[in-house]
Amino acid sequence: MIPALLSNYAPADLSFEKGEGAYLYGNDGRRYLDFAAGIAVSGLGHAHPALVAAITDQASKVWHVSNLFRIPGQEVLAQKLVNATFADAVYFCNSGAEANECAIKMVRKYFSHIGEPEKYRIIAFENSFHGRTLATIAAAGQDKLLAGFGPAMDGFDHVAVGYIDLVEAAITDETAAILIEPIMGEGGIRVVEPSFLRALRDLCDERGLLLVFDEIQTGMGRTGKLFAYEHAAMVPDIMTSAKALGGGFPVGACLAVEKVAVAMTVGSHGSTYGGNPLAMAVAGAVVETITAEGFLDHVVEMGNHLKQGLEGVIDRHPDILEELRGVGLHLGLKCKIENKQLFNALLKQGVLTVMGGDNVVRLLPPLIIEDAQISELVSALDDVCTELENA
Ligand SMILES: *Cc1c(COP(=O)(O)O)cnc(C)c1O
Repeated sequence: MIPALLSNYAPADLSFEKGEGAYLYGNDGRRYLDFAAGIAVSGLGHAHPALVAAITDQASKVWHVSNLFRIPGQEVLAQKLVNATFADAVYFCNSGAEANECAIKMVRKYFSHIGEPEKYRIIAFENSFHGRTLATIAAAGQDKLLAGFGPAMDGFDHVAVGYIDLVEAAITDETAAILIEPIMGEGGIRVVEPSFLRALRDLCDERGLLLVFDEIQTGMGRTGKLFAYEHAAMVPDIMTSAKALGGGFPVGACLAVEKVAVAMTVGSHGSTYGGNPLAMAVAGAVVETITAEGFLDHVVEMGNHLKQGLEGVIDRHPDILEELRGVGLHLGLKCKIENKQLFNALLKQGVLTVMGGDNVVRLLPPLIIEDAQISELVSALDDVCTELENA
């Protein structure tokens, strides 16, 4: 007999009964400091009063009506996102992969719309992550995501990140777009140089390509800006968001400039759940909270404090930790030991983190953390590193 639950995950033997702010309460009776935030999803922490109020209020009114009817919450939230970003229009869906799926379809539809349907290929980067659908695993350029799933969907070409010459060399008459995460999250918080992002923008402008940013992990305040492209002083043509957009409720979004958005004509794309009233109530409250005066300043300040603390820990434990990476509260510790050892030791100490590629332990706290939780994290990490040195 196999377990009734499909064994595609290997979860830690721990579950949680309740959460509050940056803490989760385990079924083992312990309190955990949450520097995982459900993989950068719980940006406002657990049981944030504004989100609890929004979902409770909407839950007693109407949850779902389908996109056969107008959903005022979508119009309001789309306008908020348009006002706060480069974009002119927004499509709502339920997850990151779906948002990227929409972005990929938008790229193809745009070129079809302007009479160049032969342009459909997208240049993406090795060791990136864009989700788990057939299109998004093909986009990621990681063999381990594709293994066992038959021929990869056609239409993606991969190059190493950071070399504009390689990107230029990969462009053919069929190339339509370039797709990139401005910070490669699953790949181990690898920060892409802003100068490289600007070079991609220039290249896209010169060659008539669309630039697509996957900001599913980096967006919604994680790096101290609403979206990470703002750090690079440039804008993409299409951008995806999800994860923290719903603060724990499944919501995704694909944002686009006008020339691309107008190609997505009636009937060209859709989703049953996408942007339903319940989702829009929660995401609306998330966006309102994150864009409120002072919120992102707090993220920047906490990010600086956390970085300072972590640099100290790295200096004290050079045999365990190699370097700190990341921007704002989107941070990763590259380990000299196996990252799983550090992850497990922190878990035992009552601290939740997330493993990433390139032997990194990701630190993704809720954006609402305070100095007290940063001190707690830094001292727990110090203790754990000392323990591992003596092991
Ligand atoms: C998490 C993530 C995705 C996939 O999001 P899902 O909601 O799991 O489908 C895509 N791209 C990036 C950069 C991510 O971090």
